[in-house]
Amino acid sequence: MTRLFGTNGIRWRPDSVGDQNFAVELGLAIGTYIGEGKTVCMGMDTRVTGPMIAAAVTSGILSTGCNIIDIGVVPTPTVQYGVKALGTDGGVVISASHNPPEFNGLKCIASDGTELAREEEEKIEVIYFSKEFKLARWDKVGRLSHNSETSFGHIDRIISLFKPNPDWKKLRVVIDCSNGPAGNFTPHILRSLGCEVLTINAQPDGLFPGRMPEPLEENLDSLMCAVVDAGADFGIAHDGDADRAIFIDEGGKYINGDESLAIFAIDALSKKKGKVVVPVNTSRVVTDSIVEGGGEVELTPIGSPIIARRMGRVDAVFGGEGNGGAIFPENMLCRDGMMTAAKMVEILATGDRSLGELIAGLPSFVIKRSKFSCPDQLKGQVLVKVREAMADSDIIDIDGVKIEGGDWWVLFRPSGTEPVFRVTAEAGDGKMAEEKLNQFKKLVEDIIQDLS
Ligand code: MG
Repeated sequence: MTRLFGTNGIRWRPDSVGDQNFAVELGLAIGTYIGEGKTVCMGMDTRVTGPMIAAAVTSGILSTGCNIIDIGVVPTPTVQYGVKALGTDGGVVISASHNPPEFNGLKCIASDGTELAREEEEKIEVIYFSKEFKLARWDKVGRLSHNSETSFGHIDRIISLFKPNPDWKKLRVVIDCSNGPAGNFTPHILRSLGCEVLTINAQPDGLFPGRMPEPLEENLDSLMCAVVDAGADFGIAHDGDADRAIFIDEGGKYINGDESLAIFAIDALSKKKGKVVVPVNTSRVVTDSIVEGGGEVELTPIGSPIIARRMGRVDAVFGGEGNGGAIFPENMLCRDGMMTAAKMVEILATGDRSLGELIAGLPSFVIKRSKFSCPDQLKGQVLVKVREAMADSDIIDIDGVKIEGGDWWVLFRPSGTEPVFRVTAEAGDGKMAEEKLNQFKKLVEDIIQDLS
């Protein structure tokens, strides 16, 4: 069966599907899955196609007798908060996260506020492809209501998790809100925590005139300059739907997401020892820091829904991904860029070191990545051949094949969404990382060639 949902919901170009029947049928499938008389919480990011898609999805969901509480233009984690706060049976987010402006997407949220598990997404896919939608009788169609209080609830909830006092250092922070919904959230939260806040790209604008919505180093020139020009203590950049936050240090230097994840893990473990959940492709900057901090590393397959659920099961003290997606269990079992920003404020306002100094204290590793085109039907065979070739090594097969050397590791993994096979290598220095990557790239290239 063809898949609809990728690792992060469904993404598409709304002008490439002919008409919006696709979105209506998605709504019909989701409503049929949730059920007549049940209720979903719905929100969207700032994309210009958001209202159009939301209207089509709304029509589909209401047709099945499922109710909708629309909470408006909000970050993705605010919908997740809304599902729990409003006690709905699920949630729907219309967002393409970090993708370019011409894309949009849809993600489903489970009744516990976590991103819907893959097995549940499959149930929606079965309904969608079979077109066996359950339509409600005219007097049982779903009701649509609007709620703008949920946004304030989420903001208040995050602020309530911190106890700023006169001993906190007064920090100057520049926030780049990516023209997404975070502009109405993060600046307010950080001001409430006592920061002097400057913003760029804080006006919601679905054309993303300020920068592309992915917080990559090449997209954050303005923020890096603004941090230096303003003499700020640090900078924050969200992705388009603000479930992630990336940081810039006081010198205007881009901090990669693995390093900030390590800082958060160390902080969490300094308060409570326990498990920290990270995916199998996480840098040793993070895993070494966890061990150093007296914690236990719990590795999972790649994907934030998997990390979040595992955190709940093992009662983890912290978890997340190296792309700026941090999960703080005291908040919610989901990535939340605003909570992540607030946490960095707490760490820097109560500690005696700057962000740059904290980063300089971390172990240093270099990751190198490569990908090969590989038809979907060959992926499984390539993985089997890789496993055979590496039979003499200790294989970690949580997701793909991972081999750990003394001071390096390599991960072989087929993409779940593209006809691509990836090889990732990490080592203590760039030269060895490059060497290992080249060595194992050759192995995969030869295997794909043999099989083709
Ligand atoms: Mg996102």
